Amino acid sequence: SRVLVTGANGFIAAWIVRTFLESGYTVRGTVRSASKGEHLKSLFAAFGERFEIVVVEDIEKDGAFDEAVKGVDLVEHTASPVTIRANDPNELIVPAVRGTIGILESIKKHGSSVKRVVITGSTAAVITGPSAEAVVLDETSWNKTAILDIEQNGANAAQLNKYRASKTLAERAVWDFYEKNKSTLDWDVVVLNPPYVFGPLINHVSSLRALNASNQELYDTLVEGAKDAESLANTGTSWVDVRDVARAHVLAGEKDDAGGERIIVSAGPFYWQEIVDAANAVAPAPLPNLLKGNPGVTKGKPHPVTFDTSKMRRILGLELRGMDVLVRDTLASFAALEQKD
Ligand code: NDP
Repeated sequence: SRVLVTGANGFIAAWIVRTFLESGYTVRGTVRSASKGEHLKSLFAAFGERFEIVVVEDIEKDGAFDEAVKGVDLVEHTASPVTIRANDPNELIVPAVRGTIGILESIKKHGSSVKRVVITGSTAAVITGPSAEAVVLDETSWNKTAILDIEQNGANAAQLNKYRASKTLAERAVWDFYEKNKSTLDWDVVVLNPPYVFGPLINHVSSLRALNASNQELYDTLVEGAKDAESLANTGTSWVDVRDVARAHVLAGEKDDAGGERIIVSAGPFYWQEIVDAANAVAPAPLPNLLKGNPGVTKGKPHPVTFDTSKMRRILGLELRGMDVLVRDTLASFAALEQKD
């Protein structure tokens, strides 16, 4: 089969491409400029003609994906901005929403061979506002607070809410489009919603200051001391290994039962101190000067938000890596980048 992966040079997408290639697929990856495809070409050179790059310069333009979707059986849309440094929320919202609607429209017009579309969503679109009691959230839950914050506060909204609103609005647009069109389409849609994705890097990253947002936060926390002991012990979200997210994207394309479903893909909740402790347990130490915080202080402490992953296990049958493996391999990847710096 032939699969289209958008934003192929991204942290998660590069792993998605690799996992598809290793599973025998032919992969077409989109990037914004030819130079951004160079590293991928050499990374996947061993797969020969089974891997190709096409340039889609501006995903906001009408018909941007018209050519790219031709002749593929499966589409995996991952391209979307991930940053906590935007001023205007539209820097995130417009490409997220326009890119998503745009690719669905292109498939409707030109994707006559497409059977399924998998969209990389996020638990940013699932989480609810703060609550006094611990909550377990499943796929019926939708983020409403991020969009409200943007409506009320615009550029002054919380940084994370700009990203969360972009993922929520993009996913709403997917389901609206699907509901309106499904009776006439030959393809269906799956949305995967992972929480924080961490893991080793195979995409091109020029330095430890140019990591993707989630790995940047991990690096800054473990090595640069970006969080004090208080916030290490009290803050965190949920996590999942990038290699498992990539596998989920392949399975979401293959499993019949996944069609029309929203699926949370999470390994579990964490406090940052738990990741710090896992990092300090790696022997030999992959990096000097790892932060210590207050070792063990979050052991057994209940988490405010947990995701119900029964749907992921039932439909995708996915086995997930543990935090020890994640932290070991990610730190090795950081260490290799430090050598390069
Ligand atoms: P990266 O920043 O590594 O990759 C983002 C990709 O999207 C890149 O290919 C990037 O292209 C492309 N992109 C960003 N903005 C635009 C734009 N305006 N127009 C066209 N392409 C654009 O991030 P991740 O790999 O972490 O994220 C990939 C997907 O996974 C996103 O949809 C994200 O929301 C989702 N996700 C990520 C999580 C995480 O913790 N990392 C958690 C949950 C979901 P370029 O290199 O040219 O900028």
